[in-house]
Amino acid sequence: MPTLNETHDPKLTSWVASANDGRTDFPIQNLPFAVFRRQGSQEAWRGGVAIGDQIVDMAAAAQAGVFQGDAAAPAQAAAESTLNQLMGLGAAAASALRRALSQALRTGSAQQGALQACLVPQAEAEYTLPARIGDYTDFYTSVHHATNIGRLFRPDNPLLPNYKWVPIGYHGRASSIGISGQAFKRPKGQVKPPEADTPVVKPSARMDIELELGVFVGRANALGEPIGIEQAESHIFGLVLFNDWSARDIQPWEYQPLGPFLSKNFASTISPWIVTMEALAPFRTPFAHPEDDPQPLPYLSSTGNSTAGGLDIELEALIETAQMRAAHAGPARITHTNYRHAYWTAAQMVTHHTVNGCNLQPGDLLGTGTLSGPTLDQACALIELTTGGKNPIQLPNGEQRTWLEDGDTVILRGWCQREGAARIGFGECTGTVLPAQGG
Ligand code: CA
Repeated sequence: MPTLNETHDPKLTSWVASANDGRTDFPIQNLPFAVFRRQGSQEAWRGGVAIGDQIVDMAAAAQAGVFQGDAAAPAQAAAESTLNQLMGLGAAAASALRRALSQALRTGSAQQGALQACLVPQAEAEYTLPARIGDYTDFYTSVHHATNIGRLFRPDNPLLPNYKWVPIGYHGRASSIGISGQAFKRPKGQVKPPEADTPVVKPSARMDIELELGVFVGRANALGEPIGIEQAESHIFGLVLFNDWSARDIQPWEYQPLGPFLSKNFASTISPWIVTMEALAPFRTPFAHPEDDPQPLPYLSSTGNSTAGGLDIELEALIETAQMRAAHAGPARITHTNYRHAYWTAAQMVTHHTVNGCNLQPGDLLGTGTLSGPTLDQACALIELTTGGKNPIQLPNGEQRTWLEDGDTVILRGWCQREGAARIGFGECTGTVLPAQGG
């Protein structure tokens, strides 16, 4: 688990002035990675690091030879068109690059002159997926979400007995994961209303969001070699915001007995900036199951995981309807939660995923599952916020929403704020529902 070091010092400032205003998601204490190019250009995609409202172009920095010593190899890897190689180098290499970036971007740094020429304004950039996502697994780590959903699908038996023992997950599909800004057609699929005898194929009428975090895997493990809980975090590169769009009318008809399938794999959206585990070090929280619950089995338990396995990350989802957009009204918040409520930690996800010897690879993506908190206003999907579609939510402009309508944009945001630490954020993850194919 990363520990605090000079790069977390809240007093550090950068010669990039916009990094120092106390409001930016990207102060010098954050330094997240993305893959970008200039908007509308045919430039090569390459890695970049956010600082204030700018991006350090890692390809330009590598060419200029800014990073030397133990930062040279990770800096070169960060210049590539995907970050898989950087992720695979492991936590020590990423940490060396972070320290070098922090030193180079500090007020008074001798490298200011060389690095100034490598800055690209974020306002002029476009982003692509930061890694080739070989495999994508989605977990189900909020007991509140599992209970709320279970109650809707199985009123007599909301939480299945395995939930408190096993970090539940399923293998999803990587090909339809897109970067923030993704606009996707409303999916069609088989739907069988309870009162109908036979299913029909139609555009989903119950389009939903799932506010999650995505965990990017760093260093690989070999097939047959489980990752112990103490080592699990050294195999995590960092976190992104993740919206796992879901079709709630396709889901109940298809999900038994093998789990979600086409209700979940038509689009999933991630934020461009990967916040590293090291950047999150000041925001750790203790982790525990409630006293009356089964305690994690020994392979899912460690002192480190208990004392600091959780993460204090504030999360919110906002909606911008077509009407709001036309009126320049700005989006409206529909929920607000915190990752610290999760029932299983990121380390437990990694350890459980590999307990059978399954090999994780750099750039694999693990979803946390919908991160609903303990109260209804912290629910992170419309199906919960509207009690299965029965109670529409009221928006400030007088509109109502039960499910998403065509033209709706959903925006996820996340940030960490704590006494004695610099506030850091994740930027935004936005996505828009378009009309179904053929109307
Ligand atoms: Ca999900």
